[in-house]
Amino acid sequence: MKSIQDLNRLSPEKRKEAIADMRSKCACPSCPTYTECAAERKETTFCFYGKSLDCINREISCKCPKCPVHEEYGFRKKYYCTKGGESTAPKRL
Ligand code: SF4
Ligand code: SF4
Repeated sequence: MKSIQDLNRLSPEKRKEAIADMRSKCACPSCPTYTECAAERKETTFCFYGKSLDCINREISCKCPKCPVHEEYGFRKKYYCTKGGESTAPKRL
C-alpha cells in the first residue's frame, strides 16, 4: 500500500504524475451521487481535493470503498464529495 507521506516526499513533477494517476482512477464520475454540475466543472478526487464546493449536496451511494485509489492509499472514509477529504490527504498543488 502506498502512503500519503510517500506522495508528499515526491518531486513536484512525480507528484503531479501521481495525482494525475489518482484522477484517472477516481470512480466518482460513475457514482450515483455525482452530478452533471460536478462533471461540467471536472470535479473528481474529492478524497484529495476536499468536498465539492456547490455541485453535490445529496448522498445517494458512494463508490469510494471500491475505488483503487482508496485501497492504494489506505483511506478509511467515504462521501468525500459532501463531507470533505481524507484527513491524511496531501496538500493541494
Ligand atoms: S476514493 Fe473516492 S474520491 Fe477518491 S479517487 Fe476514489 S472514488 Fe474518487
Ligand atoms: S466521493 Fe463517493 S459519493 Fe461522492 S461522488 Fe465520489 S464516489 Fe460518489
